[in-house]
Amino acid sequence: MPADEPDKSQLKYKRVLLKLSGEALMGPGQFGIDIPTCVTFAQAIAAARDAGAEICLVIGGGNIFRGVAGAAKGMERAQADSMGMLATVMNALAMQSVLESIGVPTRVQSALSMDAVCEPYIRRRAQRHMEKGRVVIFAAGIGNPFFTTDTGAALRAIEMNCDALLKGTQVDGVYTADPKLDATATRYENVAFDELLIKNLRVMDPSAVSLMRDNNVPIVVFSLKEKGSLLNVLHGRGTSTTISKTGRASE
Ligand code: UDP
Repeated sequence: MPADEPDKSQLKYKRVLLKLSGEALMGPGQFGIDIPTCVTFAQAIAAARDAGAEICLVIGGGNIFRGVAGAAKGMERAQADSMGMLATVMNALAMQSVLESIGVPTRVQSALSMDAVCEPYIRRRAQRHMEKGRVVIFAAGIGNPFFTTDTGAALRAIEMNCDALLKGTQVDGVYTADPKLDATATRYENVAFDELLIKNLRVMDPSAVSLMRDNNVPIVVFSLKEKGSLLNVLHGRGTSTTISKTGRASE
């Protein structure tokens, strides 16, 4: 192995999809995109890539527009969801710009075709980008209304043959109850897909969780707030919750 090549054998997960909610991009703000926050994420992604991981991203759109919110105000749901999907494209373009500003090659692929601003989603082309070390950002979810970007993340993680879907959140894993409301809540180190669904522990949409279960690809829930947390997850270190078929650490 050449001296400047990363030692991939140290990685627990070599190819991953990182799911960020749109709200994560707001940083300290109440709406929209906070560029310094995006830079922090981009640096974590760059470090993970430097360690030899192949990374793709799905970013939500909740910092700009959510279909259900538009529908609650009287819009037709499918129309409002189209706006939500457009919001995810804006976030994807922002992250692309920030990633490239620190030297990380990226491609944006959208499930809604938008040829003037990004590539259309083409599975085999996306795989090729990843093999070449480019970070692929999948925008517009699955391209259909009545879905969320959690389901988009699950679908793309499976299509890209990822070793895991990494769900970056504000907390460091899945708890028995909401730790903000219940002081006795404890964090699961490992939990089975079925237990998560039966107990209705809502870390991701149930449709996304069942897609991951049916294809036996683990989800790792970890905190975006902790410095170095993405690298830790890739190496199987640090604090997180792994959701897998049996819920055992060996899975
Ligand atoms: N959306 C959609 N189909 C998809 C993915 C997303 O219609 O496949 C729309 C939906 O309106 C959703 C919005 O895009 O509310 C933003 O996505 P999401 O709510 O998942 O963002 P997040 O909560 O992760 O920020």
